[in-house]
Amino acid sequence: MKVADLNFKKFIPKSEINSVVKKLAGKINVDYKGKTPVFLSILNGSFMFTSDLIKFIDLDCKVSFVKVSSYSGTQTTGQVKTLIGLDESLFKQDVIIVEDIVDTGTTLQKILEELTALGVRSVEVISLLRKEIAREKKVNVKYVGFDIDSEFVLGYGLDYNGLGRNFADLYKKV
Ligand code: 5GP
Repeated sequence: MKVADLNFKKFIPKSEINSVVKKLAGKINVDYKGKTPVFLSILNGSFMFTSDLIKFIDLDCKVSFVKVSSYSGTQTTGQVKTLIGLDESLFKQDVIIVEDIVDTGTTLQKILEELTALGVRSVEVISLLRKEIAREKKVNVKYVGFDIDSEFVLGYGLDYNGLGRNFADLYKKV
């Protein structure tokens, strides 16, 4: 299948995604029994995953959506990332960050720093996909859907140049 200038092939079918999402939700239902977690979905890529995941959550819970914006900082370190759209206080909340994919873990690192500064009670991460480099760097992701190599993936919320987010299955670049 062609998307813009790249070719993709089917990688993980929607049926497999669905059973993994259900399994992850089951673990969260057990781990957060008696608590009211806040699912903090990182847009844009994780909108589909978040929407499917929370349908299997049988706890009282809250759902919030944020974006990570990057802008060029004045420092030589280059890009500075910050969370935007945070509309409720996360002070003393049990936060579960919902990510589509963790690659180098840089994005996650920034989010975790900001949440810690806001005084959350606890914070854990769920990611549908985790790439090889995140495993090598031992980025702390408590709930992982699929461990994959370093291939570029698309579909189920993830895009290539803005396209492909609507596909129900996951694809990878050939
Ligand atoms: P990190 O900061 O962990 O290196 O990158 C995480 C972000 O990069 C993800 O939230 C996602 O937006 C983007 N990303 C990393 N790998 C892929 C990929 O294979 N496909 C797509 N569509 N986005 C990716």
